[in-house]
Order: sequence, then C-alpha cells, then structure tokens
Amino acid sequence: MRAAVLNEVRTPLAIEELTIDDPGAGEALVRVVAAGVCHSDLHFIEGTYPARLPTVLGHEVAGVVEHVGAGVTNVVPGDRVILGFVQPCGHCDYCQSGRPNLCQTRTTARSSRTPTLRRGDTPVTAMTNIGGFAEYSVTPAAGLLKVPDDVGLDIAALVGCSVMTGYGAVTNTAKVEPGSTVAVIGTGGVGLNIIQAARLAGARQVIAVDLVEHKLTLAKEFGATDSVNAGEGDPVEQVRALTDGGVEYAFEAIGLKQTSRQAYDMTRRGGTAVIVGMVPPTDTIDVPGMIWLDEKTLKGSFYGSARFHVDVPRILALYRAGKLDLDRLVTRRFPLDQINEAFDALKSGEVARSVLEIGSE
Ligand SMILES: [Zn+2]
Ligand SMILES: [Zn+2]
Repeated sequence: MRAAVLNEVRTPLAIEELTIDDPGAGEALVRVVAAGVCHSDLHFIEGTYPARLPTVLGHEVAGVVEHVGAGVTNVVPGDRVILGFVQPCGHCDYCQSGRPNLCQTRTTARSSRTPTLRRGDTPVTAMTNIGGFAEYSVTPAAGLLKVPDDVGLDIAALVGCSVMTGYGAVTNTAKVEPGSTVAVIGTGGVGLNIIQAARLAGARQVIAVDLVEHKLTLAKEFGATDSVNAGEGDPVEQVRALTDGGVEYAFEAIGLKQTSRQAYDMTRRGGTAVIVGMVPPTDTIDVPGMIWLDEKTLKGSFYGSARFHVDVPRILALYRAGKLDLDRLVTRRFPLDQINEAFDALKSGEVARSVLEIGSE
C-alpha cells in the first residue's frame, strides 16, 4: 500500500510502498478515506517532538473497516469509523475513573515497539497506533467509533482530533460556565473549535487572538464576539482592555511558551489558563509566584480530556443538529501525493484545516 513516510526530520514526506500486517487480536484493518493535516504532525516533522523514524504520521482519520482480528466486537467489516488516537484499555484506574485520555496502557494490543508497517525488512512506526497518511491502518478496535450514514468521512476525520480537542478543552477540561468570558490564542483548526464550543457553552464574550487577519474574520464567523490582532500591540493588554481586567478562561492553541504565558496573564484573578497546544517538551512555562494570591489555575488539556466514546457521539449529534459547524473547517482538499503542499498550506496559515482524500468509500 502507499503511505507518506517521514524518514528524517525537516525533510519532505516521501510517498512509498509499504506492507501492512493483518490485524491481530483486538485490532482492525481500516481502509483510510480521509485524514486531516494537523499541527501535531508538523511538530514531529520539524523535530520539536521526538518520533521513532521512519514513521507514518496522521492521527485525524476516518475510514471503513476491512477486517477485524480475534475478539473484536464493537465494529464489523463495512462499518464507517472514526479512529481515536488514544485507544483506551478500559480497565486501568484512569479509564475506570472517567479519564480514558490519560489511559496508562493506551492500548491492549500492539505498541509502537511492534510496528505493523514495513518497507522491505525495515520496520516503520505508525503515529498513535494509526499512521493515517496511508491507504490502510491497523489500529486497536478500542479506538474505533461508528459514524452515522449522513456524516461525511471528511468531517468525521476532523472530529477525531481537532474538533474533539477544541470542544473537549472547553466542556471537559475547563468546564466553561454560561455567561463567562473567554479568550482563545490561535484560531486554526483547534482554536476555531474552542471558539464554537465556548459559544455553545454560553460564554458571553469570546475573544479570538491571532496574527492573521483573515483567520480572525473566520473566528468571528465561528462565534467570536471580539478579535485581537496580536501584531497590533500587546495581546494581553488588548484582552484586558476588552474585559475590564482579564477573562475567566484563556486557551492557548498554538504550542508556544510565550503564548502560554500570555494566556495566563490575560486571565483575571481566579481565572483559568488552559494549555492545549503542544509546547515543546524541553520548554518551561514560567508564571508569577503570586499565583497563590490571585488563585489562578494553569491547566493542561490533552485530547480535550476526551471520553472518546461519550464525547464523539455528542459532537456528531451537535453537528447534525446544526449547532457545531464542521463543514466550514475544511478549507482545502489534497490527494495523498500532495501531502507536502498540504503542510506548506498549514505552515503559511492560509487554511483552517486541510483534508487529504486518500480513498473512496
Ligand atoms: Zn491533531
Ligand atoms: Zn486504561
């Protein structure tokens, strides 16, 4: 099968012919139909996060189940599915206490130490046990969720990462209350979903912060009440001026230490700053020692604190009811062959989300 392989950091992905194993116990073979191009993939390409190379990236994926391994009961061949990038084991203490996104084992099946992909004799790893920039994926069935017939698999793919991450950061991690004030730094695929989830949660003010004017315009279409261009003066001062001293919740959706600190600084006393972006692992986020007096909270959010099998059906229902706009998130479409162009478009900030159209249903 064809796959886009990362052989070395900071080099283009190469379209190569790989072999893929049959699904083992607890696994499914999925024919990939659509895969979103996410900033997280870019972190691995650029080397800000380590990856075991060669690897196939791609973790925002939907497709059709082709085969299932022994013991799989939640999906059957022919099912249209979203692939979750945390595959919960279901029985560790995190899974059992309602925090499956933090699952200790991630999966009951294979780990990245036993790759399913090979180029000749060379093992090739698959990002998050998915490796979605390929025609097929062998993935733990615990991460699969069926998609209603009236939801396109391009939309479903985005629900697997950017929508779940943004929506969940608001509803699960921060638990934004009706009538509250919110700021969102970074209005890409995740940021737009934070904005629309905050609107849905009843926030009275949602301030979009970005450097790109057309992204701020799009942010308003998704529910932002105000916009702040961070290139036109200190964004913290601008947010404070708009809110009488700061917001109750600020979300960082870029992955930089500087903007993380800004998120903290633009919350008011008692406020919560939520770090959603992938800040490089070697960076630190410094906050003032007076955090105790201000009773501020600095909080991380991984995968929107997703309870995947609870939240994704809710998200799909909200989309089908017209309450979440997922159609307009998709700004460009590319074939797998043009994956490097899709990453260029992401880097330039011209797209909210690109979708790779890898297979047909
Ligand atoms: Zn992602
Ligand atoms: Zn678990």
